[in-house]
Amino acid sequence: MSKVIPPKLKLKILARDNYLCRYCGKDGFESFESWCYIDVDHFDPTLPDTEINNENNLATACRFCNSQKGDKGFRTIQEARAFLVQRRIEKFKEFQMRKKEIRG
Ligand SMILES: [Zn+2]
Repeated sequence: MSKVIPPKLKLKILARDNYLCRYCGKDGFESFESWCYIDVDHFDPTLPDTEINNENNLATACRFCNSQKGDKGFRTIQEARAFLVQRRIEKFKEFQMRKKEIRG
């Protein structure tokens, strides 16, 4: 259910948010890698086509937050942040476990 954001609008939102993920604060200019993966997320992906790309429904998001948030609906950005903080903790545990399993 992803709706295309026109490139010019996307650049406007990235500039508005200073290339900082609105969910976790990751800096899109921290490294070339970060810049490659910073994107703009539809905060509420369920809005009708006429409202989906409203600027107040668009938020700069790092790859982690964008992928973990997916199409889940949140009432507020704070609610989304709380969910993503929890997801990061869970995924970090998984990362440590997999790394240990493979690399020892
Ligand atoms: Zn983020």
